[in-house]
Amino acid sequence: MHSAYDNFIRAAIRHLPDTQADFLHLKKQLSAKFKIQTPTNANLRERYNYLLAQKKIRRSPKLEKLLLSRRVRTESGVAVVAVLTKSYPCPGQCLYCPTEKEMPKSYLSNEPAVMRAISAKFNPYAQVQSRLRSLELNGHQTDKVELIVMGGTFSALPKAYQQKFVAECFRACNDYPKRITCNAKRIVSDNLSGEQKRNEKAKHRIIGLTLETRPDYIDEKEIVNFRALGCTRVELGVQSIFDDVLRKNKRGHAVSETIRATKLLKDAGFKINYHIMPGLPGSSIKKDYKMFQELFSSQNFQPDMLKIYPTVVLKNSALYSLWKRGEYKPLTDHQFKKFIVKVKNEIIPPYVRIQRLIRDVPAASIIAGPIVSNLRQLIATESKCQCIRCREVGADFRIDEQIVLDRTEYATLGGREIFLQYVSPDKHKLFALLRLRLPDSSPLSHFIPALRGAALIREVHTYGKMTAIDTKDKKNPQHIGLGKKLMLEAEKIAREYGFQKIVVISGIGVRGYYRKLGYKLQDTYMAKGL
Ligand code: SF4
Ligand SMILES: [Zn+2]
Repeated sequence: MHSAYDNFIRAAIRHLPDTQADFLHLKKQLSAKFKIQTPTNANLRERYNYLLAQKKIRRSPKLEKLLLSRRVRTESGVAVVAVLTKSYPCPGQCLYCPTEKEMPKSYLSNEPAVMRAISAKFNPYAQVQSRLRSLELNGHQTDKVELIVMGGTFSALPKAYQQKFVAECFRACNDYPKRITCNAKRIVSDNLSGEQKRNEKAKHRIIGLTLETRPDYIDEKEIVNFRALGCTRVELGVQSIFDDVLRKNKRGHAVSETIRATKLLKDAGFKINYHIMPGLPGSSIKKDYKMFQELFSSQNFQPDMLKIYPTVVLKNSALYSLWKRGEYKPLTDHQFKKFIVKVKNEIIPPYVRIQRLIRDVPAASIIAGPIVSNLRQLIATESKCQCIRCREVGADFRIDEQIVLDRTEYATLGGREIFLQYVSPDKHKLFALLRLRLPDSSPLSHFIPALRGAALIREVHTYGKMTAIDTKDKKNPQHIGLGKKLMLEAEKIAREYGFQKIVVISGIGVRGYYRKLGYKLQDTYMAKGL
């Protein structure tokens, strides 16, 4: 697979055209020649960077220019840097999950993010720095970094490895652009708190850190551990909210654990992203639809974000044998597409962000099941989705834009959620949002002292093209004070509800911003008396 890609790149460099249209034509010709699916520019860029780093090709400024695209990467206001931990055994036995030698459980060596990690030998420092460099080469601002650590169940990794891995990610941002290296044997930093402190004032600040784990691994101790690492968002492998489906797929946990983890995480201020899998063995389209309804109608769930991964049959998984014996039938492209449009148009509330609609698994690895990788574009005309992602303002912000404050409230297990957003009058354009949680537990009962009796701000986010830290750009919703106005509004609401304290789960790199608003560091949170 890789060698086909490599030959593709070498051939492309020899025949580079001047225009994007001709480049697309060339890509199609070469894909047919090397018998691969037409790669995306992002895929090509990764492989090109890898070959360059390995000194297997010479630099081609012309190819770099043609690959210069993906403006969308920093249009959500932050530079997303996804890194992968190395392979460790996962406690799960999930039917559908592939196992590939030397790859973290559930990841395939030909997925774009995994290819990047392999070329950096899974070294966190090198992964972060090469990603920052490649974003910069593509003309993006990179000083606000949203770090996403992937690789299966993070909580199951040895604690010492967790600490080193995250410390190295911080150090890579702190040092950048000082050093770029792929040497996995270099001495690694285990001075996590020192690197975090440095990051508060660094040029490349980690404003959010996402870790992925299983619901049954979340308890009070793990939450304290996640906070010490700087985590602000958790991706939970939920997959289904029905016990019979979880059992059939050998998930090894029940839905009660998802409910418990969700409450614990929200009560500690985390944002929660559920991974959900339609089409699992034991489910049906009707049952999947009911699952999405219940996700948002039941107070037990209500995630802030969703990654929807339709079940596919992959070669190195237990599901493969089931499928071969004729005991499992995956969804077809058409069924999945129709299902998603219905879910988006009828169920998804405006406080949710659909992060992903399909996983980045190359079509060649999918033996059966939905393969439509450009699903978002395919359903664009049919979708009336009101989710955050479908409304967030990109580069098309105008200076005379009319902006109004909108407030949505919903009750959840353990507290009230107030979702504030700055939107256009028809609510179709979203400029900024804030999630405020008013816990209803007794004021002194939280296991984290800083959170006792406090209202919780779980997220503040301003959309639009990313602007550099400490700059003002009137043509952009970032840095025109929307975040600050939302904070003041949240403080006002918390006061009205009788809270005497408000706390923000702040990414390490945003602490300075909250200090300016009168907040002080307490435990790992930023807190203010009301
Ligand atoms: S817990 Fe996640 S990584 Fe582990 S086997 Fe299940 S799906 Fe795969
Ligand atoms: Zn949407």
